Amino acid sequence: MKIVSTVAEVREYVKTWKKQNKSVGLVPTMGYLHEGHGSLITKAREQNDKVVVSIFVNPMQFGPKEDLESYPRDLDKDAAFCEELGADLIFHPEPEEMYHKGFSSFVDMTVLTEELCGLSRPVHFRGVCTVVSKLFNIVTPDRAYFGEKDAQQLAVIRHMADDLNMDIEIVGCPIIREEDGLAKSSRNTYLSKEERQAALILSKAVRLAKEMMENGEKDCLKIISAMKELIEAEPLARIDYVKIVDQLTMQQVEIIDRPVLCAIAVYIGKTRLIDNVYAG
Ligand code: AMP
Repeated sequence: MKIVSTVAEVREYVKTWKKQNKSVGLVPTMGYLHEGHGSLITKAREQNDKVVVSIFVNPMQFGPKEDLESYPRDLDKDAAFCEELGADLIFHPEPEEMYHKGFSSFVDMTVLTEELCGLSRPVHFRGVCTVVSKLFNIVTPDRAYFGEKDAQQLAVIRHMADDLNMDIEIVGCPIIREEDGLAKSSRNTYLSKEERQAALILSKAVRLAKEMMENGEKDCLKIISAMKELIEAEPLARIDYVKIVDQLTMQQVEIIDRPVLCAIAVYIGKTRLIDNVYAG
């Protein structure tokens, strides 16, 4: 496995692979890798001849008051993890490599970014779409892997690839959880012992929604109210949003009469965590 930090080096490797008719899978990440990322790398390993993992804490997708500076980083540990899972190349650029002085082109999306994290984090998806487009142009993968943990991001990337005729298969991978249900996240490292326990309220709330929907409840307001009541009973939790949206458009629905996504964002202390469940 190689680790490179420049676009030119990635292009060299990919050019050689393409000459040999090798297929390429890309797993975009911000690093501090865990088994959630690992499941994407493993899937990419199964489906492609070559696997590229990008590790880049993308400044453009963080708001001014967000955790860009404190976001956890550990390249040595990430490299060992990728190597063990059989990745071929890590692309680990510095921000200056991705955003040259005078950088002024952006990929933006309407509709799908109006609700959920798009509403709470106004610059987020512009940053995500721009960096993912750049990674697609640099790596030119056959397939790219994204987690359902960030379900709105997955929907946005699928839509972007379709809208902009990107000839890349977007592969979604299920949420990987800790044994007690908490969705794995690099940000879980911010949680104190007490907060880690309180954070279980997210998976409990999505499990409640899933149960209600499986038992035939179609009224979104009722489901959302029950979830909010559960979360509000946890003193360390503060709700950012609890919503049920159409799986494709990410627009809110009132009655479950199509495939939906029930998604939540909750602050546990200062740490903002997300979770979700698909239904319908
Ligand atoms: P991040 O490093 O947080 O930007 O995540 C990189 C990719 O890993 C994204 O596509 C995430 O959705 C995915 N991912 C992160 N956590 C998980 C998880 N617990 N289960 C599945 N995929 C995940």
